[in-house]
Amino acid sequence: QPVTVEVGLGDRAYDILIGSGLLSRAGAEISRRLPGTRAAVVTDENVAAAHLDTLRTGLEKSGIQPAIITMPPGEKTKSFAHLEAVVDGLLAARLERGDVVIALGGGVIGDLTGFAAGIVRRGMNFVQVPTSLLAQVDSSVGGKTGINSPRGKNLVGVFLQPKLVLADTEVLDTLPIREFRAGYAELAKYGLIDRPDFFAWLETNWEKVFAGGPERVEAIAEACRAKADVVARDEFETGDRALLNLGHTFGHALEAATQYDGTRLVHGEGVAIGMALAYRFSSRLNLASPDDAARVEAHLRAVGLPWRMADIPGDLPDADALLSFITQDKKVSRGALTFILTRGIGEAFIAKDVPASEVLAFLRENH
Ligand code: NAD
Ligand code: ZN
Repeated sequence: QPVTVEVGLGDRAYDILIGSGLLSRAGAEISRRLPGTRAAVVTDENVAAAHLDTLRTGLEKSGIQPAIITMPPGEKTKSFAHLEAVVDGLLAARLERGDVVIALGGGVIGDLTGFAAGIVRRGMNFVQVPTSLLAQVDSSVGGKTGINSPRGKNLVGVFLQPKLVLADTEVLDTLPIREFRAGYAELAKYGLIDRPDFFAWLETNWEKVFAGGPERVEAIAEACRAKADVVARDEFETGDRALLNLGHTFGHALEAATQYDGTRLVHGEGVAIGMALAYRFSSRLNLASPDDAARVEAHLRAVGLPWRMADIPGDLPDADALLSFITQDKKVSRGALTFILTRGIGEAFIAKDVPASEVLAFLRENH
């Protein structure tokens, strides 16, 4: 039996199902909630090769013959050109407003497909079938969809909550290990934000999470509970939802500083280094103990994630240039920055007045 986590958004509430073998049951789970609908599946080439047949069979068992739209893999697919291709595919399949658009893939496919589902016929039913660990613990839950602009990441999109999320933990067995680790950084993030017991549990059980089995299901379910809580409290990120950006200010700066070159740094790796830096920075500001920073670093190192800037292959720009990436990423008011800082493991908070000069001094010391 899968674990069910509900995202409590009133009349738009929906279930996240987490468990092994859910692709084969997708038709039953979808038609139970959205009876009589027709469907399209949007996926990428990698995921299609590994898992599309299983999902298609799972849908056909319930009489759903989906149209299939396949995109190339990778971040560049979150573009206007590919959005147009998906929109055209949905219209060509003659789907109506009440029909369902299914995203089968990682965060790239989920973000792109959700945006298309949000604008075709002014909004269609949307179902997420996340296939990367990052998508299962983060991007498939919460309703943020969109694409990139040449002027920056995720600048164009809509909020569209899915009607259902099916996280089949078995599909993660075909995910490249580097992508699994990167998603693990976002999983550990929930422990570091406000679930200290979860972080301690991960320190003991992470190898079983990597191996699969009940610990993997439990870890993903706990992450989904954490994300669902925050989203239910603050759907449109006017407050608390910003805590989910722990590690992302430094992380985004490092991604930009490496030109979003995934051979050097993928998003979750930037988040891993960014979380370690956020803890180290909080300890430098005498907010958190250096032991907590060391504990975070040790765990990231143990699972094989990068945890310091020196772990990034190739040369990085100097501290001043890194700070300018940070200030570009943020609204800077009178030299003060908003950062997610922490008082210890599971005690993250939003700090609105971090002096840029402190950040610069810290970056110089840790470069
Ligand atoms: P991704 O979708 O590019 O997937 C990573 C790689 O793994 C791709 O090559 C993909 O083809 C492959 N893949 C996925 N599942 C697989 C499987 N089961 N077997 C084999 N290969 C598989 O990247 P991602 O890390 O899943 O997501 C990153 C994206 O998510 C970014 O664009 C980011 O902005 C977005 N994101 C969105 C939110 C949100 O709230 N909407 C949150 C976090 C991240
Ligand atoms: Zn992230």
